[in-house]
Amino acid sequence: MRERLFSVPNLSTDRRSATPAQPNRRKRETLEEKSARAKEIAERLARAYAEVECPLAHDNAFQLLVAVILSAQCTDAAVNKVTPELFRRYATPLALSAAPLADLESLIRTLGLFRAKAKSLKRCAEQLMQKFNGAVPSTMEELTGLAGVGRKTANVMLGHAFNIPGIAVDTHCKRLANRLALTRQQDPVKIEKDLARILPPHEWTGFSHRLIIHGRRTCYARKPACERCEINSLCPSSLTGAK
Ligand code: SF4
Repeated sequence: MRERLFSVPNLSTDRRSATPAQPNRRKRETLEEKSARAKEIAERLARAYAEVECPLAHDNAFQLLVAVILSAQCTDAAVNKVTPELFRRYATPLALSAAPLADLESLIRTLGLFRAKAKSLKRCAEQLMQKFNGAVPSTMEELTGLAGVGRKTANVMLGHAFNIPGIAVDTHCKRLANRLALTRQQDPVKIEKDLARILPPHEWTGFSHRLIIHGRRTCYARKPACERCEINSLCPSSLTGAK
């Protein structure tokens, strides 16, 4: 099946981009060709960003779950500042489930949405105790049933806590997947599905993680640094053309 892809002016689909869309080439691409290009992109990003460790400080699955819940609309650095004391006081789901809400709010008040997050943490810990005997579950369905856990958080947990392939689609992953013409979707679940179709499972966690890093360090929302981009020649939205 042939799909029309490169005719999409990717940068213009990003409404925050102040840069005009200038796709450097137009062609049709088969699913196989797109898959081959995605694998090459994955390879180059793996060379550029060898590390795939989650930047959120944690020692176990429970701590990672707490940190990822806290990271919504916050920087990882801000989360890493509050979690040491939070984990010291509430080291287990049992302890967290019994925590006074006011104390949780006080511990995380430097983070955005801290009241809602404090409620989610407490409720999530209660659910871990009630349904999973204090353990963190390792399936998408069980994880997304927990308070404060959406599909993106669940995919981070699968990939980084359980070594189960997962594609975490955040704002960077969404923007880059569209600019790279690996999807034409805006809905994260559909983007996840498109990426899963063109990459083997063992690439999923690392690929989505590295797209996020690339979005933070090079492919900025407003002014992508195409001139120094490692995947320039594979990107139909490049503003500089192939290197
Ligand atoms: S060439 Fe690189 S920086 Fe430029 S739009 Fe494509 S992925 Fe982003």
